[in-house]
Parts: sequence; C-alpha cells; structure tokens
Amino acid sequence: MDIAFQTDKKRTYYALDFSKLPAGEIRSLRYNFICDDCRQPAFFRKAASSGQGPCFGAKHTDKCGVPARATGDPWDKPGDDLVQKLEADKTKIVLNLGKGTGAGADDDGFPKDGSGKGGRSHSSLGAGASRSKIQRNPEKLLRALVDAPSFRTSSLLIDGPNGEMPVHQFFVEMKNASRKLHRGGFHGFWGKVTRTNVWNGLRLFNGAPAPSLGFEISDPLVTQIVKRYNLSDISDVVGRYAIFLGYPRLTQNASFMMDVPDIGHFAMLPKRDET
Ligand SMILES: [Zn+2]
Repeated sequence: MDIAFQTDKKRTYYALDFSKLPAGEIRSLRYNFICDDCRQPAFFRKAASSGQGPCFGAKHTDKCGVPARATGDPWDKPGDDLVQKLEADKTKIVLNLGKGTGAGADDDGFPKDGSGKGGRSHSSLGAGASRSKIQRNPEKLLRALVDAPSFRTSSLLIDGPNGEMPVHQFFVEMKNASRKLHRGGFHGFWGKVTRTNVWNGLRLFNGAPAPSLGFEISDPLVTQIVKRYNLSDISDVVGRYAIFLGYPRLTQNASFMMDVPDIGHFAMLPKRDET
C-alpha cells in the first residue's frame, strides 16, 4: 500500500515520501507503522530491483478496506499493474521446479529490497540494460495466470528446461492444449481440474472428452498431493485451479497424455479461490 500511519511520529506517510528520508531515520522508523484503515502492524519496504516501488506491507484484517494486493510482495497478489512493470523492465522469469524436496517451497529470488545488489536498481534498467531476473515456482505462476489476464498474453520470457519462451506460448490453458502445437515441447498447462479417475492402475486428471490432454499422476505423487494440499481424498482436486508442467506426448493408442514427473511440476490453488 502507498500510505501508512507512523506511530512514533503520529502521522501518515506516503511510501515515496518516506523513502526519501535519511537512511538512519528510515531504519529507526520503518517498522513502527500501522495500516491507516485496519490499524494492523505495517512496515516500510524499499523499492525492489523487480520494479516494485517503495511501499508499505501489512497483514490486514478481513474487514480492512485496503486492497489485499497491497501487501509486501506484490507477487502475492499479482495484478496487471505488476505485469506492466515486469514488461517495462524486461524482467526474465526463471522457472523454479523446486529441486530436492520439490515442495515448490520457496523461491526466493525475489529481491526484498534494492540494497543487496549495489547499484543495480530498477532505475538503471534503461535503454538495453541487462534484464533483471526473478525466480518463480509453479504455484506463484499459476496464481499470476489466474489473477492477471495480461500475464497470460504477456511476452515476458520464461526460462525453463527447454530454454526461453514467451509466457504466452509457454503457458497453455488446458482446454487449448493441442497435439499439433504442444506435443513434445515443455509447457505449463493450467486451468481447472475437471475430472480424475484411475485407468489401468494409473491415476489420471482430465483427459476427457477424448481429444483433450490428460495428466498421469503416479501413486507416490497422488500421496504427496493429498498431503501437501491437505485433501481428504484425491478427488478433491476436481474443480480447483491447477498447473501441470511437462512434455505432452501421444500414447500408443494415440491418446494425448502428459506424465507429471514430480510434485515440483504441479501446483494447485487453495479452495477459497474457487468462486
Ligand atoms: Zn489494513
């Protein structure tokens, strides 16, 4: 959010104005803010090299009138305005498929503020300057696809296992998955899970009616998904937004299928997003 109340100074500040105070003053005052609306604790965040300007972050109450997207990390609630900034900065997205535990856990590459990188602030990314990079895991990318229509059609580059590709080609809505266009390439397919069943001992998501893409989920992966998303049964995935990353192929009987290699290649949004 752009404005917050400073409890020592007993006044409100605009983030941009506050950012221009001497560094020592910023340090001593930055955590003693509250939301001007719901009075919850707030803090000041410097401009980030991702292009996010100075702002305040807070955990607002449910009744707070400040839009939810105005929390610290703008990517928590990506909107079209964020996409515009990323495009202006020619930011490249590095796909984080969560090696190791694969929990998709945390990507990190998101700069918390500009201080770590010396002079490489967003303002230096002018004419043909080097691109900035951010790492994103499938869950945050799915969130952006669902929340920000301009992200779906964006020409931002995403760096995946098969090299770089514009976001609008890399991500494909499940209903638009095409044998012709997407077979053999590495893509992220997203949308709502419409069905799940077991066929020949293998758990499948979607894949019907016939020509549409189906996702093959191994038993260990089913177990991981149930655990990670706290499902009572794997069938609870139906109706929720999910993303699957991998290489679709044609099976021997010419079905259009994709094996989902591990939990790092899958993400799903919480149920409360289903509206
Ligand atoms: Zn608030």
